[in-house]
Amino acid sequence: MTTFHTEIASKTAPKRPLAVLLFGAPGSGKGTTGKMLAKLTGWPHLATGDLLREQIARKTPLGLEMQSILAAGQLAPDELVSRMVWDRLSWPDCENGFLLDGFPRTIPQAEGLARWFEGKAFRPVMIHLWVEYNEILRRLTGRRTCPLCGAIYHIESNPSGVCEIDGAELRTRDDDTEQVVLARLQTYQSQTWPVAETLKGRGIAVEAIECGEMDPEGVADRIVSRLERVAGKFEKRNSKEISGAR
Ligand code: AMP
Repeated sequence: MTTFHTEIASKTAPKRPLAVLLFGAPGSGKGTTGKMLAKLTGWPHLATGDLLREQIARKTPLGLEMQSILAAGQLAPDELVSRMVWDRLSWPDCENGFLLDGFPRTIPQAEGLARWFEGKAFRPVMIHLWVEYNEILRRLTGRRTCPLCGAIYHIESNPSGVCEIDGAELRTRDDDTEQVVLARLQTYQSQTWPVAETLKGRGIAVEAIECGEMDPEGVADRIVSRLERVAGKFEKRNSKEISGAR
């Protein structure tokens, strides 16, 4: 039975921090959208692909081990990626909410994450970005990234090949060649696609966003309104700041 006191308590109780899981095929815009949402919310954007590429760039023992796996479009071992994620999520900057991009990508990772949430205050919401297959191929084969700041572009919208933020020469990711893209899409279909059902089965909200035709700002706005519908209003930064993530 709801009493006056429990009603007051629920109105004044602190909101649960959001844990946003960005899910979708390679090229669905998880990275671009994640960077925009991070600027908008102030939450850290944790992308497992970026964490692994950082290890490779630094030529750490882990990076040297992972290099050929990423270059072939295969997935890194569950245990290793999961350990990397649990470690990063324990940093204090995650306390008020975080954006997890590219994890979980397999059923064991999804089950591990569902267990990680147990007993924690976070409210997890999976955002499933939907993009048509041909659009994904177009995006991935034309994608260019800045080696300095990580900004993401497309060759059609930035034919100069130079980063608009710091002037660095843009690069094509090693795994964005047509052959590796096809391998990554196959891996997505067989190992990652079932993850949404696994998380749903564990009571985690899954919100699908159709975003093939939409520009990144439109996708970020739609995600914010969907999150607010699920979890209530949350504090945002000045929306003008988000245009830098391109
Ligand atoms: P991404 O930048 O998200 O496209 O990831 C690039 C590559 O990093 C993937 O093709 C995988 O080889 C590896 N990777 C990223 N996240 C994961 C994960 N959760 N599990 C296993 N491998 C991953």
